[in-house]
Amino acid sequence: MTQYLKVIIDWDGTLTAEEEQVEALAARSLDTLAGEVLGVPRERLAAGYAATRVRLLQAPHRYGWWVNGLLATYADEGAFILNTATLLVMLGETPAYAQAVARAFPQAQYDPLMDCVNALFHRHTAELPPAFRPAARDVLLALIEHPQRTPLILTNSMGDKVRCHLGALALGQRQDEIAVLGDTRQYDMDPSWPQRFPHPELGPIQVWPVDERHDVDLRRPAYYRALRRAAADGSRLAVVADTFSMPGALPLMMGIPFFLLRTSYTPDWCAQAVAAHPLGRVLDDLADLPAALDDLQYDVSERRAEGDRAGQGRDA
Ligand SMILES: [Mg+2]
Repeated sequence: MTQYLKVIIDWDGTLTAEEEQVEALAARSLDTLAGEVLGVPRERLAAGYAATRVRLLQAPHRYGWWVNGLLATYADEGAFILNTATLLVMLGETPAYAQAVARAFPQAQYDPLMDCVNALFHRHTAELPPAFRPAARDVLLALIEHPQRTPLILTNSMGDKVRCHLGALALGQRQDEIAVLGDTRQYDMDPSWPQRFPHPELGPIQVWPVDERHDVDLRRPAYYRALRRAAADGSRLAVVADTFSMPGALPLMMGIPFFLLRTSYTPDWCAQAVAAHPLGRVLDDLADLPAALDDLQYDVSERRAEGDRAGQGRDA
């Protein structure tokens, strides 16, 4: 039986070079905050942003993005994540800013600060022209044209932005073969979710102690359900992304291979965590993905063959 491999690809930072876009994203976000939300001079806000960003980078393991009381990501994992974390910290620790945000977002879905930075992210990334990594088009075409592989874009960005920007790759009708699951909310943390995941040494866990400074929380039921739905037709899955805590840790603990694209902003601890996991692999270039997937199929069949042999040994 042919088993399909759904290759789940993150959008921002993986297919696109978010390090080239983050300055414009931050500038537009500060324009909107100063002019529409806070009513303060833009220069003062920009100075606060710059000082906060420096402080976060001096101890990034102490800062991040908390959702429903759980840490969704550390501050330094991605260029867009650092922008989001900087805005959250700056707005949160200045009472006048936090009060203005609460007035501007009275019907918050999470809390006013989080809704505010989410709104800034979705609005302003949609305005930026797409900045694809050089290999993005060829990699998507290779996945479409491979008889047993299909690409699935799974992203926290909005699906309509992604579909619109995909048009810039001029894939023609083949674009229709790329499914886009937007607004997946890998950051949607739920402290009441009882699910645990088998860690090879620690047993059932909800928080993965990655190293002495980093614990990655796995309580992400929205992302978990999205992955389960993607596999519901019997397809195998692999996930490819440029950051670790949000898109990568949960698949690895679910037994799904995860490829981390190492970028100019990828912290060493993320690459080390992925490289140390039997199902993890670090890519230095998106162009290496198709060949890495060839190895993955080889690895899986090898493992199955070893398992079969072990089984036969036990039966004998
Ligand atoms: Mg990303």
